[in-house]
Amino acid sequence: MNTSHLDGVDALFLRASKVSRRTALMAAAGLLALPAARVAFANTQPASPELWPNASQVPGGVARLSLGPAAVRPAAHAGEVPLLVLGDVIEWTALVGIALAARPGPASIEVQVDGGQAQEIRYTVAPKKYAEQRLKVAPGTVDLSPENEARYERERAHLATVMATFTEPLPPSSMRMRVPTPGRRSSSFGLRRVFNGQSRNPHSGMDIAAGTGTPVVAPLQGRVIDTGDYFFNGNTVWLDHGGGLLSMLCHLSAIDVKPGDTLQTGERLGAVGATGRVTGPHLHWGVMLNRTMVDPALFLSA
Ligand code: ZN
Repeated sequence: MNTSHLDGVDALFLRASKVSRRTALMAAAGLLALPAARVAFANTQPASPELWPNASQVPGGVARLSLGPAAVRPAAHAGEVPLLVLGDVIEWTALVGIALAARPGPASIEVQVDGGQAQEIRYTVAPKKYAEQRLKVAPGTVDLSPENEARYERERAHLATVMATFTEPLPPSSMRMRVPTPGRRSSSFGLRRVFNGQSRNPHSGMDIAAGTGTPVVAPLQGRVIDTGDYFFNGNTVWLDHGGGLLSMLCHLSAIDVKPGDTLQTGERLGAVGATGRVTGPHLHWGVMLNRTMVDPALFLSA
């Protein structure tokens, strides 16, 4: 092991908020050529995969791809988009959000270790058939007026910058989320909607039925990165959980936070409402990983 690697490992241990038991054991056994005393200072809470989202290699799911061992955290990308990499020197794992629009079949990411040559890691996206809903609505309710079209385009450009947020530190030791509001949870993630024979974007979040005014809390600790009143989504709060993992909470009747605020899991951020293009009060909860909306249910404990 050369000096630069040792420096990398040392820096990692000093920085790390968690070190797996396996790593600590191996380090104690001298397998990592680390003094055992240094490990004693580290928090030994294991980086258990049970604390990560469930793996589901389908459109709208999350792939957990093993990157193997490395002294420092590898950098991984899907195209230009940085990916969340978790783990420790024994084994790193890339958590990859798979787009609902992804074609089943071969897919790949690029991984770079310590500034070295980029390597391709391949995986396979399995097919998943989501339900389809065909609706007939009054003509004119599907098409936007020129004013609303212009508003939507402005909002889309702004939201693209919000969605590109990728910050350190990486998520807390557990990425398991709590339901942001009590109520009946629909399983309509991925539902394909066809209005008057016109395909719309599939439903990319979880709807939770609750009355106007019901408190909405942070599903996981995070920083508020955007609040606003949007044409489709109504009053919305975006949270950055770190490492490209974001939450979006929509149709709120009240927003109690502002950009820059830091919230703990379970801290109130607003209240359920019916703002935006909706027919009744409910919470729409979206979870985004590497700029890709994935099924929030994969992040729930039960
Ligand atoms: Zn929804």
